[in-house]
Amino acid sequence: MGTLFIVATPIGNLQDITLRALETIKNADLVACEDTRQTIKLLNHYGIKKPLISYHQHSKLTRIDYLIQELKNGRSIAVVTDAGTPGISDPGTVLISKAIEEGIKVVPIPGPSAVITALSASGLRTDEFIYLGFLPRKKGRKTMLESLAQEKRTIVFYESPYRVVKTLEELKIVLGEDRNIVIARELTKMFEEIIRGKIKEVITKLTPQNTKGEFVVVVEGER
Ligand code: SAM
Repeated sequence: MGTLFIVATPIGNLQDITLRALETIKNADLVACEDTRQTIKLLNHYGIKKPLISYHQHSKLTRIDYLIQELKNGRSIAVVTDAGTPGISDPGTVLISKAIEEGIKVVPIPGPSAVITALSASGLRTDEFIYLGFLPRKKGRKTMLESLAQEKRTIVFYESPYRVVKTLEELKIVLGEDRNIVIARELTKMFEEIIRGKIKEVITKLTPQNTKGEFVVVVEGER
């Protein structure tokens, strides 16, 4: 039996990868990735040549069945996504649970994840927090937002640049304009920006220029 390595990769800055992650990729028989065009950039940067398999290849077997079969044949697989930790609002969980079910060894290789990166610099309480992934866009959105009003723990979620202002406007109604919030934009990248303040203040700091890129929203719990 091979081993399934869950390898975290950078969320922007290519230097944010551990020595162990690089070793693991070098030693794996193949790298299963979300998008080979993204992963090849990382591997080229570190001079690593490795067979890359997109999750979306292999039409006869499902991608999961194919990878499980390879693991059973004794091949070691490093699973990566385009950025961050596989399985965190990203593909990976189905393959991981299937591998566990099949008795295959699963080894995590920890590293960056936007949720923890944002939380760590937020200045908000981090002893307890809830992570919501991406908020529902339509069905269940209103109920979800309203349920946050009583939440005492710090709340973290991912947001798209197209909805970030709209979401803050909605949060302002549900949580009140004085709730502290942190917008972490383009973490580890050239235009990294961390905006902290009350919801009403943060909204005024968001302009068309700085609502581009990738966002994590961190909201203070109810006090
Ligand atoms: N698996 C990834 C992780 O561990 O962070 C998350 C993947 S999820 C599909 C992508 C979302 O994560 C983006 O839309 C954005 O909300 C957030 N994200 C990823 N990289 C980021 C960065 N450098 N700065 C801010 N947010 C980021």
